[in-house]
Amino acid sequence: MSYVSELLEQVKQRNANESEFHQAVEEVLESLEVVLEKNPQYIDAGIMERLVEPERQVVFRVPWVDDNGKVQVNRGFRVQYNSSIGPYKGGIRFHPSVNLSIIKFLGFEQIFKNSLTGLPIGGGKGGSDFDPKGRSDNEIMRFCQSFMTELYRHLGADTDVPAGDIGVGAREVGYMYGQYKRIRNVYEGVFTGKGLTYGGSLVRKEATGYGLVYFVEEMLKAKGDSFKGKRVVISGSGNVAIYAARKAEELGAKVVAFSDSNSYICCEDGVNCDIVQQLKEVERRRIREYKDRDAKASVHEGCSGIWSTKCDIALPCATQNELQKEDAEMLVKNGVIAVAEGANMPCTPEAVEVFQKNNVLFGPGKAGNAGGVATSALEMAQNSMRYSWTFEEVDAKLQQIMKDIYHSAATAAKEYGKEDDLVTGANIAGFLKVAEAMKAQGAV
Ligand code: GLU
Repeated sequence: MSYVSELLEQVKQRNANESEFHQAVEEVLESLEVVLEKNPQYIDAGIMERLVEPERQVVFRVPWVDDNGKVQVNRGFRVQYNSSIGPYKGGIRFHPSVNLSIIKFLGFEQIFKNSLTGLPIGGGKGGSDFDPKGRSDNEIMRFCQSFMTELYRHLGADTDVPAGDIGVGAREVGYMYGQYKRIRNVYEGVFTGKGLTYGGSLVRKEATGYGLVYFVEEMLKAKGDSFKGKRVVISGSGNVAIYAARKAEELGAKVVAFSDSNSYICCEDGVNCDIVQQLKEVERRRIREYKDRDAKASVHEGCSGIWSTKCDIALPCATQNELQKEDAEMLVKNGVIAVAEGANMPCTPEAVEVFQKNNVLFGPGKAGNAGGVATSALEMAQNSMRYSWTFEEVDAKLQQIMKDIYHSAATAAKEYGKEDDLVTGANIAGFLKVAEAMKAQGAV
């Protein structure tokens, strides 16, 4: 058995029943095989065994009182995965599906993603199985305060800096940040994605979606193509999806479909992003209600059918494993030319294989959606300086970072004989910086 297969076996045994975590580790380890062959010193230094084991995992009880006076109990998580190149950095997810496997897969991915940004941030992730859907504003606030009353002791602007993710947006970040500040009595950049009145950065809200489109534009440019005149399908209808759509439109594309966990909508003339944003972000309603405000749209039950919509570019921006083998086959049959992940691990390994076999340009999430966390690092920099950059300044930095990420991934892929394989390229480029830092810092 090869070194990598043996390690993978060990990871599976040691972390039984954590299928998402296994999936994320398997993809990375397999693509690093070529690097380890050339650099046995990483094996000698035990880099891989250390990389797959989080530095620290915190699991805690989150009790809170609902609007009926009943005590509810949720589970909270923070996985501080790797701090070799900077303080732990990564979002917090509130969703009923959250468990240790999900947080570990996200934290593991975050190490390489954050490294790829070129900025000094380590990898971490957190969350809770709390379901914000249907909860009142007061319930959300009480939950966030209870969550932070436990988590604060593990955080710090130079230790661990969380941000948003699914189910955690400006509102939740505000409540958590407020509670942290109250308990600690310090005003520090311990969270990113903060509101603009209390230390947030311009462009942070737009960053993941904009960054994804900047990345894809670069990927298309390398093949002499662009977004101009393309039909785009975007799954999800959160922050990532909305701003990816806005930027794609700005670059001359037409976005024809959006989804949420219940249904998807199609609009041949192009979906109106203002309506989607009003519905989802402001009113917190379901996407199917889009039709009440735009009669030209059609509504379809279920979310996976969205991949049967004919398009040139598909941007899965909803959640893990939302795009499977059959969906990928359908997209290929309908002539898709590029797919890039706005969400974390939205395509199953089998789906990615279908794209790669059919020469569809494929941008993995670690690279494509890194604009969010990159702008978080820019927010941290501004907080440390007690200064803020203009929208144009941050946006220009984001654009440059996304271009650099594309080129680091493409160059690494080529160097290791896997030209055009950005999955392998992103994993290798992200890994090398972390591995070098770990080796230099000794067996800690
Ligand atoms: N949750 C986002 C991600 O998956 C952003 C993390 C951050 O800004 O720290 O990368």
